[in-house]
Amino acid sequence: MNTLRIIVLGSGSIIPTKNRFSTSFLIEYSMGRILLDIGPGTIEKLRRRHIHPNSIDRLFITHFHLDHTLDLPALIKIRMFNELGGPLQNPQILNIYGPTGLSSFIDKLCSHGGVYGYLSEMMGNLDFLRIHEVGEGLVEESGNLRVYAVSVEHYNGLAYRLEIDNVSIAYSGDSIYDERMIKLAEGVDILIHECSFPKELLLGKHTSDEELIEIGRRTKPKLLLVNHLYPAWEGREKELEDKLRKNTECKVYVVKDMDIIYV
Ligand SMILES: [Zn+2]
Ligand SMILES: [Zn+2]
Repeated sequence: MNTLRIIVLGSGSIIPTKNRFSTSFLIEYSMGRILLDIGPGTIEKLRRRHIHPNSIDRLFITHFHLDHTLDLPALIKIRMFNELGGPLQNPQILNIYGPTGLSSFIDKLCSHGGVYGYLSEMMGNLDFLRIHEVGEGLVEESGNLRVYAVSVEHYNGLAYRLEIDNVSIAYSGDSIYDERMIKLAEGVDILIHECSFPKELLLGKHTSDEELIEIGRRTKPKLLLVNHLYPAWEGREKELEDKLRKNTECKVYVVKDMDIIYV
């Protein structure tokens, strides 16, 4: 029986399209539930999959852009309530990992005087949050979970490599073609990588299809999951998938919201 599932909660950009909205992935494994990024729509997609947000143990944030973080205050507030909407005296611990600046980011949102300062007033404090500002290298080790991080070129962004139940998963977040990401993802079982735009339309610090071919060739994942598609890809997903398949040695799948990948 599969013990590890990856649920695609968001596979697009900040601009909603038929099958895609902002980024988030849920990884379910033998010891718990992990979120990778938490863009707008994440909480609603969890609801559609009948997964209570309080069951998330760990959240790994790649960077602070709103298409990767906007549902975080909602996740924190939900944590304060039981299933009937009554107050929870002892909310479940939530571990949040992210780049330098994570503590200040959460402070500006939730501390007394923050944008949503009433959250601190409700709880007195938010000590059920465990904030981990992480650098590079091994950033978490617990039971059969190991997590490594590297910096990537995208607004103080991080990429992660998770080793869980003997499965390795690398996750780019947003990034340009970056040697550090390639080293992190070498030989991984599953590579989740962004492909924001076709090469001719590439904008900002993102990855194009041509660059992703090179990344696939060099890292050789068993499975390449392609995400963070801007509307420029709308209706061209099959073309993208075929091109990546043809030019790399990898199995390739362009994910869409609500997909479940059984590992
Ligand atoms: Zn970004
Ligand atoms: Zn993004």
